[in-house]
This record gives sequence, structure tokens and C-alpha cells, in this order.
Amino acid sequence: MSNAASPGCLYVVATPIGNLADLSPRAQETLRTVDAVCAEDTRHSRQLLAHFGIERPLLALHEHNEDELAGRLVARMQAGESLAVVSDAGTPLVSDPGYRLVRAARQAGLKVSPVPGPSALIAALSVAGLPSDRFAFEGFLPAKASARRERLAALAGDTRTLIFYESAHRIDEMLADAVAAFGGERPAVLARELTKLFETVLDGSLAELQARVGADANQRKGEFVVMVQGAADEGEAKIVEGRRVYALLGAHLPPSTAAKLAAEISGAPRKALYGQSG
Ligand code: SAM
Repeated sequence: MSNAASPGCLYVVATPIGNLADLSPRAQETLRTVDAVCAEDTRHSRQLLAHFGIERPLLALHEHNEDELAGRLVARMQAGESLAVVSDAGTPLVSDPGYRLVRAARQAGLKVSPVPGPSALIAALSVAGLPSDRFAFEGFLPAKASARRERLAALAGDTRTLIFYESAHRIDEMLADAVAAFGGERPAVLARELTKLFETVLDGSLAELQARVGADANQRKGEFVVMVQGAADEGEAKIVEGRRVYALLGAHLPPSTAAKLAAEISGAPRKALYGQSG
């Protein structure tokens, strides 16, 4: 694809999240014809390429070297090379490296073209049966428990379907924190190992899901997308937010003042906040 006369292109190529047959014909063609493939883990991506009989130079591009490498990769594309960026699974940049390279390429006026395909969040949403006209992708929650709980509390009043990525070793804790923040009754869906042998999609209330996962070690294995239905309506959302603010202010102010301010800030009726510890 090299052409010294005109700059090359950066292709952002989605790869399978489990089932290798999900690598699209266009993705295969792109990976076969670019000058090099930038990969999060070159060993992992070499195996994927080998499966399709593709042999291209691979360059390691991960969060630790992306800033430093982006400039050199841009120079190569300006000199006429075309490059592809892939991550270990799914769509690059979605909780994966690639953002800095894409930004640098765009700032340099280079063409950046998507080769769309699998992404765990869209695959999960497509089978969840939760409202999907508006949703918020929250990626991975913070690893630290206090930061994770704070993030969840701030989302409790959001009326959009909430989507989280989670790993096997934290799924238990995450579900417990979600029950505490959203209430055990909130409908939710757990999508595990999508497109793989042990693909499982569980739905129920958050408390039910927590119990099922807690009771069965097999349900704690693999990769997860956790989806939580949004707060029921704007009224409920205001009350949830009001209670959160009331709990924060209550630590520093008399209850009546905290409730008055929380009601003003959130738009919730003051009575709905009284006596709530959050
Ligand atoms: N870029 C990827 C994408 O587009 O989906 C996501 C990469 S992120 C580092 C990896 C996380 O995605 C996993 O921890 C899990 O939450 C989710 N994930 C990836 N593959 C999955 C699968 N087959 N089933 C369920 N979740 C998956």
C-alpha cells in the first residue's frame, strides 16, 4: 500500500471478542494489505493474523508507549505507509489503547478510517432486552472500593441503561456495590463470555443476579458486561440524587439545612429526603 506521493491511512480495525469467525472479510483484507499492524499485544494478534494466513509486521502499541510512539507512526503515514490498529479483542479505543494515536493522526490531517466489527458493549446490549435508545457506557469502574462506590452512587439517578465492563476477580464485589447503590430491585443483565463456548446471559433484579453469581463459581468465570436499567423516571432520579446530596451535606450541616439545600440542588421534594441517610 506504500505510496510515497500521498500520505497513508490509519485503519481502526475491530477484531473478535471470542469467536474468530467474527473477523469480517474487510478486516481481513485491510490487515492483509497495510504496511504494519499496531497491536496491544503482538503475540496475541500474531496468532489471530496467523489463523487467517496473514503475515504483516506487528508493532506493539499499548498505554505505556502510545504517546511516545504516536509521533513516529504519524511520520510513517505521512511518508506514505498505511497502518492498522487493533486491540486484543473488540473495537480499539473502547476501554483499549488507540485514542492517542487516532488523535495524533487526525491532528496531522491524516485519514483515519474505521473497519467496524465486534464490541462487547454493543453485543451485550443487543441481547439484554433493556431499554437501548439511550445508554451510558461506563467502561471499567475504579479498582479502589471507595472510588467505585462513589462512581456508582453518582449514577444511581441516571435514567439511561448503564453498561459496565467487569473482570472475573471483581464481579462479586461489583454486584454487591451495585445493589447498595441502585437497590436490589433494579432490573439488570449480566452478559458473560459472549460468542464463546460458555456464553451466558442472565437477567433479573440486581439482588437475584448477585445471589446467582454468589452461589455458582462457574458464573464468576470469564469476561463480563454488566448492564443496569436506568432509574425509573425523572422524579425517581431527582429523589435518588437528592438523597445522595443530602447524605453528603448531612455530614457537615444540621438535617433541616442539609435537606433544604439537597432539595434545591436536586429538584426533589424536601419531604422525600428527610430521615434518609443515603
Ligand atoms: N475493546 C473491547 C470491546 O470493544 O469490547 C473491550 C476491551 S476491555 C479491555 C475487555 C473487557 O470487555 C472485559 O473485561 C469484559 O468486560 C469485556 N468483554 C470482552 N470480551 C467479552 C466477551 N466475549 N463477553 C463479555 N464481555 C467481554
